[in-house]
Amino acid sequence: MQHCKIVCVGQNYRAHAEEMRSVPPAEPMLFLKPSSAIIGDGETIEAPDVGRVDHEVELALVIGRSAHRVREEDALSHVSHVAVFNDVTARDMQTAARRAGNPWTLAKGMDTFAPMSRPVPLSRVKDVHDLDLELRVNGEVRQRGNTSDMVFSPEKLVVYISRFMTLEPGDIIATGTPEGVSALQDGDRVEATIPGVGVVRNLFRRV
Ligand code: MG
Repeated sequence: MQHCKIVCVGQNYRAHAEEMRSVPPAEPMLFLKPSSAIIGDGETIEAPDVGRVDHEVELALVIGRSAHRVREEDALSHVSHVAVFNDVTARDMQTAARRAGNPWTLAKGMDTFAPMSRPVPLSRVKDVHDLDLELRVNGEVRQRGNTSDMVFSPEKLVVYISRFMTLEPGDIIATGTPEGVSALQDGDRVEATIPGVGVVRNLFRRV
């Protein structure tokens, strides 16, 4: 298991913020997932009986070089790789936590709740600001988006996070999901894709 921190960005696409009945925040809204949640392509998402569990396809940035208070023009030089990420979310738990003013840690951080494709070098990606994202469940498209619709660009996220929290090699930034999140059912086959970056396919199981 890779040891790193996963910094996730909430509501970084306008249409997703709207479907969550929120307005996009004025500054990036951050939370963490533990590295113990990471699984790879072909592994199984195992969800305990905690109510609704959703998929969220996202672009992941992998840090290659330590980043501490970096400038926007240097920000991408600290990112070495990108990957497809599925920010699996126990939605009912998250909603209850939001209402109570409590953290989302458990709703977001359970084992297997961070499926990720094999990272590819950023240099092999044409334009990180224009990547299609797609998520299918049992072959049916549920989410479709493009990284050009991000509220805060990858550069702005690296700048913002590194003002407060040093990003270290191997750390991951999950940059937020476009609209179309939906609930998973036992036995569903989930496939998150970013053409030119990769794919991560996982079976969803209630345990
Ligand atoms: Mg997310």
